[in-house]
Amino acid sequence: MKAVFLPGDKRVEIRAVDVPTPGPGEVLVEVKASCICRSDLSLYYGNAVVGGEGAGKCITGHEPSGVIASTGVGVKRFKAGDRVAVYLGVGCGVCSACRMGNFFLCRDWRCLGFTADGGNAEYLVVPERNCLRIPDSMSYVAAAISTDAFGTLYSACKKLQINGASILGVWGLGPMGSSGVLAAKAMGACVVALDPMAERRQFAAELGADLTLDPTAPDARERLDAFTRGAGLHAAIDCSGNSAGQNMALDSTRPLGRVAFVGESRETTIRPSDQLIRKELTLIGSWYFNVSEYEEIVDVLTRGNIDLERLATHRFHIDDAETAFRLFDERKTEKAVFVF
Ligand SMILES: [Zn+2]
Ligand SMILES: [Zn+2]
Repeated sequence: MKAVFLPGDKRVEIRAVDVPTPGPGEVLVEVKASCICRSDLSLYYGNAVVGGEGAGKCITGHEPSGVIASTGVGVKRFKAGDRVAVYLGVGCGVCSACRMGNFFLCRDWRCLGFTADGGNAEYLVVPERNCLRIPDSMSYVAAAISTDAFGTLYSACKKLQINGASILGVWGLGPMGSSGVLAAKAMGACVVALDPMAERRQFAAELGADLTLDPTAPDARERLDAFTRGAGLHAAIDCSGNSAGQNMALDSTRPLGRVAFVGESRETTIRPSDQLIRKELTLIGSWYFNVSEYEEIVDVLTRGNIDLERLATHRFHIDDAETAFRLFDERKTEKAVFVF
């Protein structure tokens, strides 16, 4: 089968590898869709955000969906033909983090696409407990987007206690930020979406954002303050991962508010006294979702008639992986998806 590797220095290699065999408790998934994510670019450039030195040696892709082709010994809940999305963290299964459903917080975890073979290939083997059942009404592309993109932002909104009375700001309107707009709107919040790129702001408005702003415009803070009648946001999510976005999110949030950093960033400078301590503000990191949240995520998407395929602006054949990563890197796409 064909599989995509990112050994670094913007090299994209499509290699022929054997179709893997599921071991005990594992399933073989025939991949139908697999999304490219901003974090994949850390592999593309050769400084992986997950897995350190060990990363970049396995098949890429941590946001796949597909149909189960076969099952290993002892698999009880899934059978060939079942449609699934795949949870990216492969944990030990028995530590407290795993038992709580946070496989990605397991000490011994492996991450699909970084330190375990991922979904940018025709087939993928994962433990049964990583399979997330999807309804017939959900397309494979939507299912792939429902995990790391929508699921992560849905979970971040829950951690921030977003509800119908909230005014939430979302910085950075790539696929994560766009998912954040959709998730927060599904929870009834009022959403301010911020990005320097006009076409991304336009897209966020189409997805339901109540106000869009260019955070680099001289009057951005003034307009944001006016929108909240001077009170500031209840909550903010930074998906930009850049210091200006992170700081503006902290500055724009009202006392006792909550801010989540979701966009990857290796270091930043903030002003804890003004931004956190004197406002009694809560700042959290949010990375992925608890595996138990997926049923709820599917319910919200189904009941709210949320079409995640809208986020998939570009679809690629695996043979065109080089083009796919280049366009994604150049921010010419929202979600880019390999379809099989
Ligand atoms: Zn991702
Ligand atoms: Zn564990």
